[in-house]
Amino acid sequence: MNKKITIAIDGFSSTGKSTIAKLLAKKYNYIYVDTGAMYRAVSLFAKQNGLVGADFLDHKKLIANLFNISLSFQYNSKLGFAEMFLNGQNVEKEIRTLEVSQLVSKVATISEVRKKLVAEQQQMGESGGIVMDGRDIGTVVFPNAELKLFMTASADKRATRRYKELMDRGDDVNFDAILFNVQERDQIDSTREDSPLVKADDAIEFDNSDMGIEEQFERICSLVEQKLSEI
Ligand code: C5P
Repeated sequence: MNKKITIAIDGFSSTGKSTIAKLLAKKYNYIYVDTGAMYRAVSLFAKQNGLVGADFLDHKKLIANLFNISLSFQYNSKLGFAEMFLNGQNVEKEIRTLEVSQLVSKVATISEVRKKLVAEQQQMGESGGIVMDGRDIGTVVFPNAELKLFMTASADKRATRRYKELMDRGDDVNFDAILFNVQERDQIDSTREDSPLVKADDAIEFDNSDMGIEEQFERICSLVEQKLSEI
């Protein structure tokens, strides 16, 4: 029988969670779910409907409109990962802008938003064989995940990675604005009341400020192999 586990990857923004998650999903033939994309898509919806902006958030109207938000992932074989669709539209590019990054942590503090997305995430992972990354996967979404990882890196390293990503796709961005955003999201995500970003007691921490992807991936794969041999 093919044994499958649940892998929960949490941590600060731009710590390379999704790179590791995609590599793991490919190697073990697991489903990969980027939960940050879901919070970003809800934020894009709120922005498009005038419910959130730089200095306001209409909690009430957003909550009342949650039933109008339908999210799905559709696998793109050319890219090798699933893209985010909001109400049938591919929003993969729009959700990655700095503007959405500046709104998303505010939107993610709303308990009703979290409740909807957590329920969808739990449903996607109910049969195991999943790698999910986010902020509350090992603590709230899958507290019984067999393997939990918690990724950290210095704010400067993370902002540099993000800056490069946005420049590579042609966005006109400013490094200081990105560094500010990374630090602001860390602060909001770690201090919110509902499901704050904290390391689960049984998560294994990786500080990858000075560790390459290959070394990290190798170490994580041996943790996966160990878990697979235990079940
Ligand atoms: O992972 P990513 O950086 O794309 O996530 C964007 C934002 O979505 C985070 O900064 C956080 O505010 C929110 N988020 C969350 N819970 C998750 C995933 C993301 O609150 N599980």
